[in-house]
Amino acid sequence: MAQQEEITPLEHRTTTVEQGPFCLARCICGWRGPARRARSLARTDAENHLTAAR
Ligand SMILES: [Zn+2]
Repeated sequence: MAQQEEITPLEHRTTTVEQGPFCLARCICGWRGPARRARSLARTDAENHLTAAR
């Protein structure tokens, strides 16, 4: 019996992108966080997204 390959779930990988004076989190799934003034906030958005995606 042939083993069926599991479909790999959509991966989430976040990065922070600088846009002018703002910084925002981005994910390879297409998600984008709100523009933040501080990179630390964008990182928090990214972490929240990863947690919420599970
Ligand atoms: Zn994602």
